[in-house]
Amino acid sequence: MKSLASYKHIESAVIHGGIYGDYATGAVNTPIYQTSTYEQDGLGKPRSKWEYSRTGNPTRAALEALIAELEGGTHGFAFSSGMAAIDAVLHLFRAGDTVIISSNVYGGTFRILDKIYKQFGLNYKIVDTCDLETLKNAISPDVKALLLESPANPLLTVTDIAAAARLAKENGILTIVDNTFMTPYLQRPLELGADIVVHSATKYLGGHSDLIAGLVAVKDEILAQRLHFIQNAVGAVAGPFDSFLLIRSIKTLAVRMEAHVANAEKIAKALQNNPAVKKVYYPGLPDAQGAEIQKKQAKNGGAMISFELLDNYDIKKFFEGLRLIALAESLGGVESLVCHPASMTHASIPEEIRRQVGITDTLVRLSVGIENADDLLDDLLSAIDGAKK
Ligand SMILES: *Cc1c(COP(=O)(O)O)cnc(C)c1O
Repeated sequence: MKSLASYKHIESAVIHGGIYGDYATGAVNTPIYQTSTYEQDGLGKPRSKWEYSRTGNPTRAALEALIAELEGGTHGFAFSSGMAAIDAVLHLFRAGDTVIISSNVYGGTFRILDKIYKQFGLNYKIVDTCDLETLKNAISPDVKALLLESPANPLLTVTDIAAAARLAKENGILTIVDNTFMTPYLQRPLELGADIVVHSATKYLGGHSDLIAGLVAVKDEILAQRLHFIQNAVGAVAGPFDSFLLIRSIKTLAVRMEAHVANAEKIAKALQNNPAVKKVYYPGLPDAQGAEIQKKQAKNGGAMISFELLDNYDIKKFFEGLRLIALAESLGGVESLVCHPASMTHASIPEEIRRQVGITDTLVRLSVGIENADDLLDDLLSAIDGAKK
């Protein structure tokens, strides 16, 4: 079996990290332990540490150890969806508490706070976390956590994670970072001072648009114990087969992210130079909001791009004109996907809030896949041409 000291780099960790292989047989892959329960030898005599698969399952445990290692944490938790992961983290709080969320978070994160948790007395505040002064002023005594996305969805705005986490620590509150858009290959929030990292593993970690899952990583023993209790008590765990698929997918995370980002950098530049494009939002462009902070806290700008066309272009026609890039929600798969945040991913956010945070009706969000960049550009540019009014 490999020893932890046998590699230093994340390109090796994605392949060998966590609980690698199967000691009993020497299999290089973790088996799919498709079982709900485990036989005991007698009363009070468990044969192994496993007792019931909601509480723990060896395939899931291998994935949980892997995400913990990749994020630089000590404990990982796998859930049946990204929202289930966020839901588990929100169970750390109680009625009367307030959670601050970044002003353009994932629509589902807003929805669970606004429509579910508010009913139970857990409140939220939408704050432009990119502005540290605004953030500082928003931390009232009832605030118990910051829930940040950086870059945030869909305008790719960048929050200084280290500075926000410092501010949180000074005030005795938790910093939670949704790292879905970056993955631990590009950004590791726990190392920047965050307490909890959450993922929709449905996106880049899964990488092939074929599963729904969520992951959490922490570096604190008490938080880990509380989250394990919640995971077992609430029960939205990842199944053994999805856990296996995720372990398999994460093995190629490094090479996939390199290919995603190379394409995205090329496409962001081409869109910026296109006269039909009003604005490009991509934190890898030197003149983007937060570009300097992005450089400091992440490997590069990632592979999500948003943009707006000039008013004399018909957005509906643009979407209909695409032949290679599919119109679909979600992101992070090997195939490029395009979406219309105002009517799709962010439709659950009321129009006036959408307007306030800059999610216009002409905004397009592009998840750049790993196809040939010129094929992608040809498709985008011909759809833009065809959309001219
Ligand atoms: C998709 C997404 C989620 C929700 O994850 P699911 O796996 O769809 O439940 C949360 N945060 C971000 C940033 C996402 O993109």
